[in-house]
Amino acid sequence: MTEQKIVILGAGPTGLGAGYRLNELGYRNWAIYDRNPYVGGLATSFEDSMGFTYDIGGHVMFSHYPYFDDLVNKLLGDDYTEIMREAWVWMMDRFVPYPFQNNIRHLPPDVVLDCVLGLIESQKHPERLKEARTFDELIDAQFGAGIARVFMKPYNFKVWAHPVDHMSIDWLGERVSLPNLEQILRNVIAGQDQVSWGPNNKFKYPMYGGTGGLYTPFMRYIGDRIHLNKNAVSVDPAAKQVTFSDGEIVDYDLLFTTMPLDLLINRMPDVPDSVREQTHHLHHSSGLIVGVGVNRPVDSSKCWIYFPEPSAPFYRTTYLNNYSPYITPDPDAYHLLLTETSYSPHKYEDKATIVDRVVQGLINVRLLEPADLDRIASTYLIDVDYSYPVPTVDRNRALGTIQPYLSAHDIYSRGRFGAWEYEIGNMDHSVMQGVEWVNRMLLGEPEATWKDFGRAAESPIAINSADDFYAMPGHGWVRAGVEPISEAAAD
Ligand SMILES: Cc1cc2nc3c(=O)[nH]c(=O)nc-3n(C[C@H](O)[C@H](O)[C@H](O)COP(=O)(O)OP(=O)(O)OC[C@H]3O[C@@H](n4cnc5c(N)ncnc54)[C@H](O)[C@@H]3O)c2cc1C
Repeated sequence: MTEQKIVILGAGPTGLGAGYRLNELGYRNWAIYDRNPYVGGLATSFEDSMGFTYDIGGHVMFSHYPYFDDLVNKLLGDDYTEIMREAWVWMMDRFVPYPFQNNIRHLPPDVVLDCVLGLIESQKHPERLKEARTFDELIDAQFGAGIARVFMKPYNFKVWAHPVDHMSIDWLGERVSLPNLEQILRNVIAGQDQVSWGPNNKFKYPMYGGTGGLYTPFMRYIGDRIHLNKNAVSVDPAAKQVTFSDGEIVDYDLLFTTMPLDLLINRMPDVPDSVREQTHHLHHSSGLIVGVGVNRPVDSSKCWIYFPEPSAPFYRTTYLNNYSPYITPDPDAYHLLLTETSYSPHKYEDKATIVDRVVQGLINVRLLEPADLDRIASTYLIDVDYSYPVPTVDRNRALGTIQPYLSAHDIYSRGRFGAWEYEIGNMDHSVMQGVEWVNRMLLGEPEATWKDFGRAAESPIAINSADDFYAMPGHGWVRAGVEPISEAAAD
């Protein structure tokens, strides 16, 4: 493919990854547009007037890719810290090391008994793990009634803001296996802990600028291609044009979009109802990120803590000051707690009172002392409309309908909310979705990370009114009345 015009919507990690790779391959005819006045998308950071830096929720780099690791090294140079991933759960007025099931000995004896009996019962029925169809069923089959009741179900509702029986299980991939009962019992009886952290479990974090400090250096390479404050309000697939809120119209040959998939479809004219209605099956949670800067140093090696109980509105709190000495104005004088609270139509949160409720929650769970109320130096609220793409039971089917329609029109939707696949929704996955899409377009390489649910060959996905498109097992998607097109071009 030579010099077709590529337009990228979104300068978050996915769009930046695509742009970086285009530049690296020497491609010239492309540009990125983002509605924000900054790059980084959900992986950006904000600094307040006092000098506290806030991420949009705790961001930990879990890389699975040598390319991403090399890119991080290039972008950060020596300007990074390395932190051991130390995670805890707070419940029943105590800290339990994570993973929870390995450390239940910290709970009151009657709860330990309940958890162990539930585990034993679930291990008698391994077939239930295979038969589970929803996340709710899977939790019961995998962990038993005790752990499900005290931790897994309440915690997951707090995170996803959706009932766990609305969620599927295929996003969990190979991670689904029965817990090691013998090891759990040994830990209980011998009184030993089994934690997920250790010298080999470290992650890098930018020394300066929070998580966003990884994305601003992209400007060094591709800054001249990035157009900020450009909100795409309509995409016309027939004319191959994007219209922005300032009235500018941009032509494209190929559109690579990372904006939320449901919003994209709603900004396109003439989408068949059979495709448009599938957006109703894409569910997401929203998030209220509240940072609290406290005028007191804290001596803790904890990274983050999970909160399954209603004693605090948040599901997770990160000691962000532990990630870099530049997160607070002075690490010897301050610490910074970053909390995450979800909301959705299934889970109401009052935004007007969230900061006060978070501060009270931090006192309830003993991360703050009552006397700290006078030491709060700063609070910061970020309201994130699209926070988690929820893997609900009908998601794959919806994606299997929407994505083939888009790609048949030279529109490729990737990234956390572009692909709407939570299981590939982290920063490394996102950057690599951009890189791999460019490799596919320019070098003909298959995309390894993005999962194409339009190719579910065994069970063709029927579109109700098959006027425009239909699925053919083994052939991807073809236009009705048109010869099947090749595998490579079909999606
Ligand atoms: C609470 C939370 C915690 C997280 N924790 C981690 C973690 O620990 N580790 C990790 O690796 N990842 C984490 N992530 C995920 C990480 O933030 C994402 O992987 C990453 O930001 C996704 O990049 P993206 O480019 O696909 O999407 P986004 O970051 O959402 O970027 C999309 C971009 O598109 C732009 N856009 C949207 N609509 C339009 C429009 N109409 N016109 C123009 N531009 C538009 C947006 O402004 C945005 O900049 C977390 C995310 C959240 C919300």
